[in-house]
Amino acid sequence: MIVNRKKFLKTLGLVSVATLALPSKNIFGQTKTSRSNSTTDKSSSVIVLGGGLSGLYAANLLKKKGIQTLIVEASSRLGGRIMSVTNPSDQSVYDLGGEWIGDFHSLTRKLVNNLGLTLVRPNWNGSQSLWDINKFSLKSKENLEKLIEYQSKIPSNQIEGLDKISLFRYLRYQGFSDMELDELDLVVKSFYGESSKNISSYALLSSIESKKSLFQNFYKVEGGTQQIISKLANNLDSTDIILSDKAVSVSQSKDGVLVTLSSGRRLRANELICTLPAPAVSEIKFEPGLPREKIYGLLRIGYGRIHKEIVELNKPLLSPEKGEGIIDWILPNTDKVATLQITEGRAIALENSNSEIAEGLLNKSLGVQSAKSFLSLGQNREGFGTGAVSIYSPSTYGIKAELSSSVGPVHFAGEHLGEVPGTMEAAISSAILAVRKIS
Ligand SMILES: Cc1cc2nc3c(=O)[nH]c(=O)nc-3n(C[C@H](O)[C@H](O)[C@H](O)COP(=O)(O)OP(=O)(O)OC[C@H]3O[C@@H](n4cnc5c(N)ncnc54)[C@H](O)[C@@H]3O)c2cc1C
Repeated sequence: MIVNRKKFLKTLGLVSVATLALPSKNIFGQTKTSRSNSTTDKSSSVIVLGGGLSGLYAANLLKKKGIQTLIVEASSRLGGRIMSVTNPSDQSVYDLGGEWIGDFHSLTRKLVNNLGLTLVRPNWNGSQSLWDINKFSLKSKENLEKLIEYQSKIPSNQIEGLDKISLFRYLRYQGFSDMELDELDLVVKSFYGESSKNISSYALLSSIESKKSLFQNFYKVEGGTQQIISKLANNLDSTDIILSDKAVSVSQSKDGVLVTLSSGRRLRANELICTLPAPAVSEIKFEPGLPREKIYGLLRIGYGRIHKEIVELNKPLLSPEKGEGIIDWILPNTDKVATLQITEGRAIALENSNSEIAEGLLNKSLGVQSAKSFLSLGQNREGFGTGAVSIYSPSTYGIKAELSSSVGPVHFAGEHLGEVPGTMEAAISSAILAVRKIS
């Protein structure tokens, strides 16, 4: 029987860990967090725009340096693209955003460890991967290894050439079969929310190199990734956090920066770290305006779409299965509860559908397996933005360096600017680089 989503949520009160973990909007006692028309000036040493992983980690690093910091977050919750939800009936926790941490994501693993959290392997029967290397011929396996190796040693004058073509076309040229290309594409979509047809070969090969653990072995945070966010926020007891107020303009003067929020409130600081995703940066009015090349760069970064739904299945599922219809993957959490992963335009179609249509689409795609109940459909994903991870399409080489450069006292960070874009590792590494620039 399909339980009506609204009824289910009402009965079980599915809530996000964020809501549970954060006491009130006035979390740290010093700051008004509600939208008000206050125009009070507030001074701080560094203003951090964005209360996702990158912003919170930057604020933690600044606090360690003894620098007074103020975080501005547009939505009513912290975490951005990280969100865990708890089913209060059994306290089980599921991730709707950032989840998987690879063997080689050393910064993330270190952070998880330092915060006293535990990493666990997914509870899958035998397999630790979505990547079935046995689907590849011996020659293709060797070729892929060689290409990954090649991109890391490629002379700089050849990088732009490799960057101009998509990985899909490049591998086809290298002799990969259609079946092999489709296999690779399904895994690429699950991590980038976008086809390898639309991602630069150079960007994707270098990302696969550093992400390769994601293709083979991965972990997740026991009890949900949102715990990283809660712990980072709890470390900031002396730091202000403003929620539910959006930065709309950033002006520079000889004394530093002045940030105006949508409520009209004005904040002053010596320096600023902007951790917002590219589309959100381009919405801010900078005074003086950002350099033209930076604006072009912001507009050229794309965002892949990944949508996750948590469902209770009719039949137990022990290992990941490829989906049908609009579903890319069905990933078991427990033997009865699974995460449905939907990507690209199908994710947009689902998000634009009302819950009745969405439920119908998902159930048709699940076929005989069908859902007993939908646990997260309709969950408010405020702060998620419209894209899951940044995409460097063909001919974008050089953009990251341009976007990472500071403009006076304004520094830039966020997932799209870190090492291994598309991951929490990137959000953390970009924060480290930005904090190093603070004088
Ligand atoms: C569905 C999904 C699945 C994912 N899976 C994985 C995975 O398995 N492994 C992995 O490593 N990564 C994964 N990621 C990516 C990972 O979650 C992100 O890389 C990371 O969380 C990004 O952190 P961030 O701080 O850079 O950006 P965000 O989390 O986007 O933070 C930016 C914040 O800025 C706020 N904001 C926007 N505009 C303004 C404004 N004008 N003023 C103030 N605040 C503003 C937003 O509300 C947001 O909270 C996934 C992401 C999604 C969405």
